Parts: sequence; structure tokens; C-alpha cells
Amino acid sequence: MDNRRDFLTKLAAASAALVPVRTFSFAAPLPRPVSGSAVEPMAEDAAQNLRGGALYRSPKTFFGADYYPEAWEESRWPTDVQMMREAGFNIVRLAEFAWARIEPREGDLDFDWLDRIVDLLWKGGIQTLMGTPTSQPPPWLYQKYPDLYPVNAEGIRYNFGGRYLYCFNHPGMAEYTRKIVSGIAKRYANHPAVVGWHPDNEFGHVARECYCKEYCEPAFHKWLEARYGSLDKLNAAWGTSFWSQIYSDWSQIPLPRLTQQQHNPALILDYRRFWSDTVVGYQKLQIDILAEIAPRQFTTHNLWGKPDYFAMARDLNVAAMNFYPAYGWGRLEDNGLELDTFRGLKDGNFWVVEQRGGRPGSHNETLESAPGLLRLWAYQSYAHGADAVIFFRWRTAARGGEEYWFGLLNQDGRPNRRYRELAGMGKELERVGKLLEGTNVVSPLAFYVDYESEWAKTAPDVRAFDDRRADYYKAFKRLGVNIDVTGRGRDLTRYKIVFAPMLYMVNDDMVEQFTRFVRGGGTLVLTFRSGVKEWDNSVTMQPLPGLLRDLAGIEIEEFEPLLKMDPELKEGEMPLQGVAAPFAARASAGTIWADILEPKGAQALAKYGRKFYAGKAAVTLNRVGEGRVIYIGTHLARDFADALAAWLLAPHRIVPPFAVPEMVDVSYREKAGKKLIFVMNFNNTAQAVRLPRTYRNVLAERDVAGSVLIPPRDLLILSEA
Ligand SMILES: [Zn+2]
Repeated sequence: MDNRRDFLTKLAAASAALVPVRTFSFAAPLPRPVSGSAVEPMAEDAAQNLRGGALYRSPKTFFGADYYPEAWEESRWPTDVQMMREAGFNIVRLAEFAWARIEPREGDLDFDWLDRIVDLLWKGGIQTLMGTPTSQPPPWLYQKYPDLYPVNAEGIRYNFGGRYLYCFNHPGMAEYTRKIVSGIAKRYANHPAVVGWHPDNEFGHVARECYCKEYCEPAFHKWLEARYGSLDKLNAAWGTSFWSQIYSDWSQIPLPRLTQQQHNPALILDYRRFWSDTVVGYQKLQIDILAEIAPRQFTTHNLWGKPDYFAMARDLNVAAMNFYPAYGWGRLEDNGLELDTFRGLKDGNFWVVEQRGGRPGSHNETLESAPGLLRLWAYQSYAHGADAVIFFRWRTAARGGEEYWFGLLNQDGRPNRRYRELAGMGKELERVGKLLEGTNVVSPLAFYVDYESEWAKTAPDVRAFDDRRADYYKAFKRLGVNIDVTGRGRDLTRYKIVFAPMLYMVNDDMVEQFTRFVRGGGTLVLTFRSGVKEWDNSVTMQPLPGLLRDLAGIEIEEFEPLLKMDPELKEGEMPLQGVAAPFAARASAGTIWADILEPKGAQALAKYGRKFYAGKAAVTLNRVGEGRVIYIGTHLARDFADALAAWLLAPHRIVPPFAVPEMVDVSYREKAGKKLIFVMNFNNTAQAVRLPRTYRNVLAERDVAGSVLIPPRDLLILSEA
């Protein structure tokens, strides 16, 4: 608990400082020269900025692929490098799965092949983001440690064959991690082609959770002892008196393995916290080694799975993500919020280290990207703050795991439609990349996310809960607004509006954070099922919305889900009647949930129209100091969500560049107040956008104004004069 508080304090201080405070030693030896290189080593100030941490901005725009040269004949490598050059690539990620190739037998390190490909790429003008190869240990390590395999929640130990097969708490893994990470770090710490480090791969992947009795369970007990101090406190906080669970010794406390009916929700949440801290700790083991041996290079990692991303990102210089836009797995347009989330982790630009390069999944699971989409998604990454887009992967595997997780090239290795599309983009980036340099995304509005609150929603009694935050996100995006993602400990006062959907579990620090923001003139929006739980995962004993009650100016005595089975509702839709701006005299419908709101100082904006709570408030406004708190007790249909979004912006004088049609994403980056605007049409039909002023059309190299038609799956890039 203390560590978390410490982290928040540091995070708040870092946010407040607004400039990178890290200093670096340049005492390391100079980069060794590579003859015939097409790329100059980076200037020191640029290199320092690259490792910048908060407000990170890359000194240049990167474009490239994840490359697995170890899977192909070496005679093919020059062709690959030549094709990458022709596509305008300037970066690859290498080696995160190459441990067994680098160290085929214990202590027998072979970097020669890696040297050869790094140098070959470098001569072709392509730099390397070097992976540490710990994603999967080699077979010999399991002969040494048969208990290295993680144990799943059913208590079954995995066998060799997959990936990510190690327990983070295994002491042998820590020892061999130090050896291999130090080895590769020493080899490439001063190589001018190696721009940074990518420890491992997807540390947070859910398949990596371990429930072993040998290492994870005792570590969990220690973690609990540090958090609670005494078993009396733990028993009280968890409510172990019910179902006869009172613990009299730490060793009695289980990991949440398979049990009959369900585990205690507090145990589940604390396991999630413990697991996240475990992952953060193992990542830090690697980062500390890299920082010591390779201080000139930055660290990044593709955050994935269930750890606290804010905590993971704290130790990295740059946040990174995998971006596999839904196309077969979900809706095509639900991508912006995901990108904005990763930008929010360090309040600055980020890297996409796995961008969809071909069809993900198995061969019959996802749809082919129609012409234009791969390019459009890649631009969407840049538009939302990526400084690097690295496609997964260069060439689809002909052998081994994930043989149908397609990359840019098919197994045949020939230029294809996907390659040609992105090579065309590479040409465009010769100009667009320069314009992106030094720009950041600036937003007047933020969505608030808290990972511990999200984990609390995963308890068995909560069941899957769709908070539909993306619907509100899209309502704001249609108006053309940039949106940040923020969280606990951050300074909210730089925003005009903070949207905090379904903040299920809250603590006093969050209430203080919100109160400061609202009193200073901000608008806070809360939605149903907020403030239900307190920080020990107990249901609040205050009237709902618990700790948020005074801010919202309401109380909630009764609530219910809006179910399709309800005979009083048609398809589960609750009629809503607007009674004040922005809904005055308008009718709509709510779905999913109904919090029956009793105003205690707040004013009703809309009321329920049916059932025993007809006439009771559904949406309220509370004025606090200079600011406003909106509480939405149900899920608003699109007409009310749109009306609310426009009405919220108005008093803050937020004037976005222009509004856009459905499934058109407008996002902009800026430098010195000048915007570079990306207008991306994800529709299969052309869409018209009305420009309120003259812009430079960057791709067409001419000025544009008035109504502009964007072809299907295409974009406009506009710069302000
Ligand atoms: Zn374990």
C-alpha cells in the first residue's frame, strides 16, 4: 500500500514538473562506427529527448516491422533489407523470442548472427529496437528447473511447448534473466543502430498468471502481510467471518485457484494487485539492468493484459502498445480510445510496436483488410500520438507457432497488396514524418480510468458489465475533440472536462482530486455504478454514490438493471423525458441500468418515464464552486449523448476544428499552437467534411477549403498555415 502511495506522489510530482527531469550519464564509450552506414548517429540532445520519460517526443518518426531473421535463411536477409528500404522503413524490433537461438546451450552465447543482421539493417538505414529474449526461455532451462513452468488457476502446471512459460517469482528465472539481459545489453549498449530496448514481450498477458504453491503463494502471503500488517486487519477488511474463512495463519490464505462457487471478492482483488506488482517488479529487474549497462538507450514495452498500465509505464521511458484494430473481432471504429489510453500512460507520445500488418488470429477468424485500411490504421496511430509504427510482422511464418497470424508479406516473401500499400505510405511519410516531428496531442478533455477499480468489477457477483464508455467517447469525437486518458494522482486542472464512467471503487484521494478539479471550474461527469465500493473492496456503508455523494449532490436508495425480460419495458428500453438543458422537452431512452436519483442539491436534467420510479431523476447537474458535476444514472441513447457532449463543451469555449460524420476519426497533433489534422474515413463510402477555413492538404500539396469529399478508407492530412 505504501509503495502505491509513494508511486502516486511521484507521479503527481512528475506531472506537475511538466518537463523531463531525468538526467543521463554520457560517460559510456562512444558508439562503435559502422562503415557505409546510411544513417547518422543521433545527436546527443535528440538521444536524450528520446529517453525523455514525461512529455516524450521522438526526435524522428519511425516506421518499420517486427522482424524474425532467425526464422529464415541468411541468404534471404539482404532481400528483406532492400524491400524494407524501398518501403521507407527505418526501424525493426528484433530478438524478443530469440533466447534459444542466442544461447542454444547454457553459457554458450552466440551473438554473431544478431550482429550480422543488425549491421546489415543499419547499412540499409534501418535502426533496431532490441528485445531482451526472455519471452520464452530455452528448453535447457527447464531441465535445470522443472518447476519453472507457471501453474494455472486450476492448479495444473503447464508443459513445454507454448510461450511465456515461466513463473515470475521463480528465483532461478531471476538469476538467468540477469545473465541473459546483461549479456545482450553489454553487446549492444553502444551500437549506434540500436535505438532502444524492448524487454520481453507482453509481460501482462493473462496466460502468464501463475498460481504456484512453491513461489507465488509465499510471495502473496508476504505481500498481504506488508499491506495489512496483521491477520486481524485482513480478516476484518475481507469479511472472512462469512463462510467460515477467518484465517489464523498467513499460510492458510490461498491464491484464487479453482474453487466451488466463488472466491471472496477482496481476495480476488488483492490477487490482481499482487499480480500487477509482481509483473511490474519483474519488468523493473530488467529495466534496472538495461539502465545500468545501456544508459544511452531508452526502454519501452508493449503493455498488454491485466496489470496496472500506469504502474508499468512509470518505469519505462516510453509507453508502447500492440494495435490490432478490430475487424472481425469487434467494431471497426472503436480504436481511438485504445490509442488515447496508451498516450495517457506517460502523458506523452508513445510507440506502436505491433501494428496490424496482416490478418491476426487463425486463418478463419478475422477479415482481410480492404484496400486502404492498413494505411489508414497506421495513420490513426500517428494521429493519436504514436511516434513509431512497427508492423507485426515482416513476413508470415512458414513454420512454427502462429503460422496464420499474417504479417506484411505472405510466406512466399513476394511484394503483395499489403506491402505495396504500406510502401506507398512510406513514400508519403518522407513528408508527413517531418511534419509529425516535435508535435504532441493536446486535449481539453480527458477520460478517467483506474485499473484497480476496473479489477474490482471482475468479481463473480459483479459479472461482466458493459459501461459503454466508447459511446460517449464517440459523441465527443464526432464533434472533433481530442481526448486524453488520465487517472489517479494526475493533475486534472489542465482539463476542462473529465469524464469518469462507472468508477466502481473510489478512495479519498480520488475524491480530493475530483473536488480540486471541480472547484477550480472543471466539469466532472460520473455515470451509474460509481462510488459503490471503497478501497478495501467493501461495499460502501454510506448512501450511494458513496464517497462521491457530496460532489454529485444526489443520493441513490434504489437501482436496477434494465432488462429485456422486463414486461413493463419494450426491449429493456426505459423512456426518458428531458426537463432542463440540454434535454429540455425532449424524449429519449435509457438502457442497461437505472440509478434512481434523489437530488440533494443537484438539479434534474432528465427523468425516468415508466415503472414505479417514473418522474424520478435520471440525469442530474450539481454546481460545486466554479464547476459542475453531471451524474448519469442510465446509459443514454445516441441523441441524448450527442446533446450532452455539445452542451458540456459550450461553456468552456472548446471549439474543435470541425465536426465529422459517423466512423470518421478526426484527431490532431500540434506544435507551437499550429495543428496537423488527420481526418480519417473508416466508411466504405466517400464522406464529405466541411472545413471552416483554408488548410494545406499535405498529401495533395495544395490548399483546400469548404466541403471536401474523402474517399472510402482514405484520409485528409491538413496543416494550419
Ligand atoms: Zn508461480
